[in-house]
Amino acid sequence: MKLKGNLMKKGLLIIISGPSGVGKGTVRSYIMDDISLNLAFSVSCTTRAPREGEVDGRDYFFISKEEFEQKIKEDRFLEHAYFCGNYYGTLNDYVEKLRNEGKNVIVEIETQGARQILAKLNGDDEISIFIIPPSLEELERRIRGRKTETEEKIKERLAKAEEELKLAPLYDYVVQNVTPKTCGEEIKQIIKNKLK
Ligand code: 5GP
Repeated sequence: MKLKGNLMKKGLLIIISGPSGVGKGTVRSYIMDDISLNLAFSVSCTTRAPREGEVDGRDYFFISKEEFEQKIKEDRFLEHAYFCGNYYGTLNDYVEKLRNEGKNVIVEIETQGARQILAKLNGDDEISIFIIPPSLEELERRIRGRKTETEEKIKERLAKAEEELKLAPLYDYVVQNVTPKTCGEEIKQIIKNKLK
């Protein structure tokens, strides 16, 4: 029976962006627990080294700079960016496959990449959400609390965050992450409204 395939609606593309350390990953895990939203996470490629506990193929595809640059040449990325010393990119085929299966796909990316996607698409089947911290002081506390970056990298990420926060008006929605639960609930409602 081919019927199911023909009737299947292509999934949404959900762009979740915001400065490093704002809690995008935690909020994403929270909303993905709601199975009624039929969500899938787009696993990105990065040249950054894995952090403790991160798993290749689940958190990221950890690849070399050479492999990444080869994929750029082959036009494999929906978007990609160079962020604080490393490449990050969303694989086009990966996202398309999931969306064609009817999944609503979350891409969790920084602002340069989000701008590339927003410039390419027309808004009908996507939503863009920008997560902001309660304050810059709180963002610094969160980045330091992760204890994964050197002092130099922390400073670099904080300076970058100040720049990224200025880009909030480019997104469809801006949501403050006071707690993952309140932020996650707000995002779930945004997705539900779009799916109506
Ligand atoms: P981290 O090194 O903390 O995992 O990620 C650094 C930043 O890169 C975060 O803001 C994260 O959301 C973003 N990021 C992760 N994957 C991608 C991607 O595929 N493309 C872009 N443009 N940014 C990404």
